[in-house]
Amino acid sequence: MNNKIYEISPGFEEIMPKDYRDLVNDGPFGKKLGVKDLGTFKELLEEHPLCAGCGLALSKRLILASLPSPENTVIVGTTGCSSLSFAQVAIHNIHSIFGNQNAVATGLKRALEIRFPDKTKDVVAMGGDGAIGDIGLGMVMHSWFRGEKFTTIMFDNEAYANTGGQESGMSQKGAVLNMAPTGKKYAKLPMPEIARDAGCVYSASVTPARPKRLEKMVRRAVILARKLGPTYIQIYCPCPTNYKFKPSESLKRTRDMEKSGAYQIKEYISPAAEELIKKFEEVK
Ligand code: SF4
Repeated sequence: MNNKIYEISPGFEEIMPKDYRDLVNDGPFGKKLGVKDLGTFKELLEEHPLCAGCGLALSKRLILASLPSPENTVIVGTTGCSSLSFAQVAIHNIHSIFGNQNAVATGLKRALEIRFPDKTKDVVAMGGDGAIGDIGLGMVMHSWFRGEKFTTIMFDNEAYANTGGQESGMSQKGAVLNMAPTGKKYAKLPMPEIARDAGCVYSASVTPARPKRLEKMVRRAVILARKLGPTYIQIYCPCPTNYKFKPSESLKRTRDMEKSGAYQIKEYISPAAEELIKKFEEVK
């Protein structure tokens, strides 16, 4: 994006909302900032309507701070808790109906390549486990089979959270939710492995417990997708509202899930991706 697009026309500096002025003056666009710089720049997600302690809000904030080129990124979101906070995201984003995000992202990425052949435009499809692992799984997998060059990020709160708490394919076996009172009967879907086997050149699962690690994975996924093909990351997002723990315990729960092995950190990297990672991480 040409930074002039969002610069304020002379004479309008006083009239534009403060938030907008702050974004123009102190936003991360074109500055190559990352999670270590949080607190020093105007963030791309603020004042969202998600529940207190929502792991999804924390993850989204970290993802946005990790994007290698936020000014040249378009997010395709979809129905779910995450969609409630896209109106507050200060970056181009599109809402697609439930589960359609990877089909919409496919068309968008192809159109951007035709419209801007000399520029790098990143597309990131984001959705919850319902949109990516259940309702949209067909479209997700077919975008991977076709080798579409964009990143898919799943906010994995292990439930359908904003419809009152049903089990999802990503809920763990035995999980008890408001509308699954006898416990889930089958195991969590092995999405990182499904992504790897369906053609993703990079597939990872992570939590927001260590922001630098999450940042590294997001950067790897987005940069690899530019050159090689589809990439996938799933992020554990604790949901205090449906799993019934205190909002103040979200981070502890995240760490406990990781420590006990209930949520495993994984990273599958294809040989071609490994080569490319060496190059761009050496350059840094
Ligand atoms: S219901 Fe759960 S996932 Fe949804 S916004 Fe609230 S805490 Fe987050």
